[in-house]
Amino acid sequence: MMQKFSQEQLAREWASQLNRFSPEIKQYIKEVAERNQSLLADHFYSHMLEDPQASSFLSHEQVKTRLSASMQRWITGIFSLDLEQNLDAVVAQQVKIGEVHARVSIPVHLVLRGARHLKERMADLVHQDSISDLQIRIATSLISVNIDMAMEIMSYAYAASTERNSRAEEAYRLFAVAQDIGSEKERQRGALLDWENQLMFGLAVGLPADQLPRIEPSEFGLWFRHKGAHAFEGATETGLILEAMSYIDSVLLPTFRFSQDQDQEQVQHLREMREQTKSIRYHLDRLFEQSNELESGRDVLTRLLNRKFLPVVMSRQLNQARNEGKPFAVLLVDIDHFKKINDTYGHEAGDHVLQQLSSFLVNTSRAGDYLFRLGGEEFLMLLVDVDEKGALRTAEKLCAAVAGEDLKLPHSKSIRVTLSIGLAMFNGHPDYQHLLRRADDALYQAKQNGRNRVVIAKD
Ligand code: GH3
Ligand code: MG
Ligand code: MG
Repeated sequence: MMQKFSQEQLAREWASQLNRFSPEIKQYIKEVAERNQSLLADHFYSHMLEDPQASSFLSHEQVKTRLSASMQRWITGIFSLDLEQNLDAVVAQQVKIGEVHARVSIPVHLVLRGARHLKERMADLVHQDSISDLQIRIATSLISVNIDMAMEIMSYAYAASTERNSRAEEAYRLFAVAQDIGSEKERQRGALLDWENQLMFGLAVGLPADQLPRIEPSEFGLWFRHKGAHAFEGATETGLILEAMSYIDSVLLPTFRFSQDQDQEQVQHLREMREQTKSIRYHLDRLFEQSNELESGRDVLTRLLNRKFLPVVMSRQLNQARNEGKPFAVLLVDIDHFKKINDTYGHEAGDHVLQQLSSFLVNTSRAGDYLFRLGGEEFLMLLVDVDEKGALRTAEKLCAAVAGEDLKLPHSKSIRVTLSIGLAMFNGHPDYQHLLRRADDALYQAKQNGRNRVVIAKD
C-alpha cells in the first residue's frame, strides 16, 4: 500500500515539475529526443561498454541487440510528456525497468552514470541548435527534470524490489536450515517466556509503568520483527502477533501502575496481558507448524519445492554460473493429457500420478539439483553443472522411465502416462525470466510436435 502511494506521489511530482514548462519547449525537446534517439542510444551504449563492470551485464548478445531499441523507446518515452495523459504509462515503464535492474542486480551507480552521460549528450545537442541562450537554459532544465524523475522512480522500484528479494532470501535461508526450525521454535518460546517473567517480576516489585519491560524491544520481539515476520511473511498469524505485541506495549503496559491492593482494574489488565501472551504463543506454534509444510516452500502433495523460492534459487544459480562460468539447465516438465486422467479416474487418481511422478524426478536428479512443482502438473528441474548433452540425457531418461512404467491408481488400477519436456541451457542472459521463457517455448514445441518428447530451446 505504502509503495503504491509513494509511486503516485512521484508521478504527481513529475507532473507538477512539467507544469513549469511551456508546451513549445516540451514539443521542442520531444523532437530533439525523437530525432536523435538512435544516436543517443549508441552514445549511451558505447560509454557503458567502456566500464568493465557494466559490460558484464551488457555483453550478452540478446541484451546487445535489444538494448539499443529499448533505450530508444525509453528516451522517447520520458520526453513524450507534453501530455498529462500518458504520465501513468511512463511511470509504469520506469517501475518496470527498475525491477529488471534489481532482478539482474545492476549496481545503481552504473545506471546513474548512464543517465548522466545521456543528460550531457542531450544538452550538447541543444547547444548546437540555433536557439537563444534563455531557451537553451530552459531546455537543459527540462532535460534534467525528465531524466532525474525517471531515475528517481526507477531507483524507488529498484529498492522496493531488492527489499522483497532479500526478504525471500531470508525466508529461504530459514527454510534451508529446516533441521534448525525445531530448535528455533524452542529458543523463541523460551525468549517469550523470559520476557513474561521479567514483566511479572517488574510488576511484583512495583516498577512504574514506564520501566516495565516492553515486548517489542525484547529478545523475542526483536527476533520476530526482524526475522520471524519476514520468514513467515503473508501468514495471518504473523500480522496477529505483530498486532498483539504493539497492543501490549502501547495500550496495556502503560495502564499498569503500582498499587498495594490488587484492585479490580489491575487484575483485569493482568488477565488481558496473559491472554495476549497466550495468543502470541499459540500463533507462533501455528507458524512453526506450517513452516514444516506449505509455508516452508515445500509442496504438500509432492514434497517438492513450491514456486515461492523459484526467484531466489534461479538468481543464485545464475550468479554462480556467471561467476564460475559453469553451465546449468532448466527442464520444464509437463504431463501429457493429464486432464483426461482426472476426467476418467477422478482427481484422487490424478494426485497419485503426481506423487509418483515426483519420485521419478527425485530419482533422475542429483543431490545438487533443484526440483520444483510449479503448479498443476507442471514441474521444473534445475540441473546444476551440466552441459547440453548431459541435460538432454537426463531429460530423455526421465521421459523413457515414466513412459515405461505402470503408475498405480487407487483400487489396484494402473495407468501409463507420458511427459513433454522443454530444455533450456543457461546462455549467459542475465535475466532468469528469459531462461524460463525459452524453456516454456520449447515445452510448447514439444506439445506441438506430438508430446512424449524433449525439445531443446533455441538460443
Ligand atoms: P497437455 O498434454 O497439453 O499438457 O494436456 P493436459 O490435459 O495435461 O493439460 P491441461 O493444462 O489442459 O490440464 C491440466 C489439468 O491438471 C487441469 C487440472 O484439472 C489438473 N490439475 C491441476 N492441478 C491438479 C492437482 O493438484 N491434482 C489433480 N489431480 N489434477 C490437477
Ligand atoms: Mg499437461
Ligand atoms: Mg500443464
